[in-house]
Amino acid sequence: MLIAHLNRQLLEREAQGLRRRRRTAETPCAPQQRVSEDGQPARELLAFCSNDYLGLANHPALAEALAEGARRWGAGSGASHLISGHSRAHAALEEDLAAWLAPWIPGAKALTFCTGYMANLALLTALGDASATIFADKLNHASLIDGAQLAKAAGQRYAHGQLTVLARQLAACTTPIKLIVTDAVFSMDGDLADLPALLALAEQHDAWLIVDDAHGFGVLGPQGQGSLAHFGLHSERIIYMGTLGKAAGLGGAFVAAHPTIVDWLVQAARPYIYTTATPPALAHALRESLRLIAGAQGARRREQLLQRIAQLRGLLSALMAKHPTLGWRLADSATAIQPLIVGENTTALALAEALDRRGLWVPAIRPPTVPAGTARLRITLSAAHSAEDVQRLVDGLAQAAKEQE
Ligand SMILES: *Cc1c(COP(=O)(O)O)cnc(C)c1O
Repeated sequence: MLIAHLNRQLLEREAQGLRRRRRTAETPCAPQQRVSEDGQPARELLAFCSNDYLGLANHPALAEALAEGARRWGAGSGASHLISGHSRAHAALEEDLAAWLAPWIPGAKALTFCTGYMANLALLTALGDASATIFADKLNHASLIDGAQLAKAAGQRYAHGQLTVLARQLAACTTPIKLIVTDAVFSMDGDLADLPALLALAEQHDAWLIVDDAHGFGVLGPQGQGSLAHFGLHSERIIYMGTLGKAAGLGGAFVAAHPTIVDWLVQAARPYIYTTATPPALAHALRESLRLIAGAQGARRREQLLQRIAQLRGLLSALMAKHPTLGWRLADSATAIQPLIVGENTTALALAEALDRRGLWVPAIRPPTVPAGTARLRITLSAAHSAEDVQRLVDGLAQAAKEQE
């Protein structure tokens, strides 16, 4: 019965072109990858889809730091943080992260998590009890949506970036605790939340601002300190979540916030308590990643990334000017996430396939992940891309544009 039920749904998805398949990388994370799929021979692809914004995922110094961490700490942590899995390596990483955020959140303490998904579930379920209301941007990441659903708190959503709507919702709210939750960089659009205005609203309405900086940490702001540094915000009202599997090149996540909030998470956050701590070697390697990000290498890589972003936007604008009838639109994004909005689902799929035939890997993103009529190619750039890589992508798109016209 269960298997028949699932097979029926799988067939439905297949018929709608929505069945998802994994490609298997045969080589490390990098723009040039050998990948295989469905038992067919492996192919060389030039990828524009990872979140490895600084090209650190395959950095020899980080691979070495991971190996060194394993030599020093062994392979696993052995238990959850509250039992016996919390090591000096984890504690030292938390101290580094607290110091990293302290200029923006005075007095902050930091707490590490296995993944950003778990950190967001932890935050929203542990802070969002029955005396709270959670206010969320409609384009927030799935992990924030799931966290809000799991929480006992009341929930309110506001249309993307519509802060006048949020202000009305806050003014009408009667619960003693108010939590505003937002992505700092929206993952399907690449645009930045207006964090200064959100913080002002939080202050005005005695609310707290939870910032998910998955795509800003390591990339935005001086020394890659993230979106709070980018905007120069200072407040004890900010609860910051950063992920360590994107720009930081490894994996894991952390929350930095008022010490009482961190203490409470340790007491009450089930995704923190009921899971095995990450291997201490990972925490050890993450400290090296922070040093790379904040140092000269990080600065150089952020500069390269900015050059690639400017190059891609310039070339794509020229291409669209040449083919106005296509109706393509480049999202208004200054970050490494550069969506090319093409409209119809079939158009986005056909484009992704045309690029694939040319050895270019760019994912097509369709509803329900994005609003109907805004299907897109989600191009992500990395400091590891060369100018030639970006040129190849735009050449591929130019050929696909001619085919479509
Ligand atoms: C990737 C991402 C997460 C989840 O982080 P993981 O460490 O991959 O679980 C959370 N929020 C946003 C906005 C993300 O892009």
